[in-house]
Amino acid sequence: MAPQQPPAPQPKQFPCSGCGAVMEFAPAQGLLKCGHCGHTEPVPAEAAPAVAAHPLEEFLALVGDAHLRPLSGQALQVQCTGCGSVVSFEPPQVAGACPFCGANVVTQPKAADPLVAPDGLLPFKVPKDQAQTQVRAWLQSRWFAPGALKRLARQEGIAGLYLPFWSYDADTVSRYTGQRGENYTETETYTDSDGNTQTREVTRTTWWPTAGQVSRGFRDVLIAASRSVPEKKLNGLAPWDLESLSPYEPAYLAGFKAQRYQVELPDGFEDAKSVMARVIDRDVRQESDTSFVAPGSLDLDRLHELLGFRPEEDTESTTVGGLVAEWLGHVPQVGESVEREGIRIEVLAGNELRVEQVRVSKLEAQASV
Ligand SMILES: [Zn+2]
Ligand SMILES: [Zn+2]
Repeated sequence: MAPQQPPAPQPKQFPCSGCGAVMEFAPAQGLLKCGHCGHTEPVPAEAAPAVAAHPLEEFLALVGDAHLRPLSGQALQVQCTGCGSVVSFEPPQVAGACPFCGANVVTQPKAADPLVAPDGLLPFKVPKDQAQTQVRAWLQSRWFAPGALKRLARQEGIAGLYLPFWSYDADTVSRYTGQRGENYTETETYTDSDGNTQTREVTRTTWWPTAGQVSRGFRDVLIAASRSVPEKKLNGLAPWDLESLSPYEPAYLAGFKAQRYQVELPDGFEDAKSVMARVIDRDVRQESDTSFVAPGSLDLDRLHELLGFRPEEDTESTTVGGLVAEWLGHVPQVGESVEREGIRIEVLAGNELRVEQVRVSKLEAQASV
């Protein structure tokens, strides 16, 4: 009886053309390098397209796992039983200790699960030996670094690990309504503890309704898809040099590990939305500082207090509604607007007799000589 054939050895993915040993990505050169004979080769590009964005809705609408693929043909993955992180790597690398919690990974590596494969990646730039030297120097400068940390740094050395991020683009248009407060001071009379009448200045606020629209485009809102590194530490690494983003190629994984994302694409989008909302909120506050909604009967003196605007001397009108009619030469229709003398007045409500509501905005100072 013929002995059972041993399973065919896995084809080596990046064999050295000089000696056949496995090549690894060498950060210093940005090339694949053979650790055995020193031969280098460029990272093979599979008709690499530029890193491009995908429409989110279209992507999410794809059914099943059709759009998922493994990191590479050979990639293996292990899940740490200590912290739950899933880390992928290429043979002949081994799982080793968990790069996040240091626990020894005892489970058998299996073929990496398909995932939303990265479109782009920032290749490592610091070679391993240089990183190791720097960490050692840093540890020596730390008098109180725990011995366990020093031991760990010695034993495990330094390993390069890719961390997952989602990047979101969005074009946004936001309509808002609200109240804009104007502070003014008033002199108030009161009776002090001795029964004497005194006066004091008090600040009061008048509220004006405001409404408007802001638009803003966002590019590369980065959301960490790792939960294994505290968010604050991760954000401390920003800004990332996204200009240097390379189209993803499995060869970059050779000699390195990669963490599988722990935040799913739609959940990351929720996080991205809250990042964008903070920026939009600021835009609205800025715009409403120079724009507000007022009744057509608003006195022009009041307009001066609010926007620092005073029309030319020969103006006959005393209200903002009158002013817009005077400027246009007719009773304006709803939706009509006029820009003059650095402000814009838009008629929001009214009839053939009068202007009832306007939005007044201060135009941005024109760059002129
Ligand atoms: Zn070689
Ligand atoms: Zn772990």
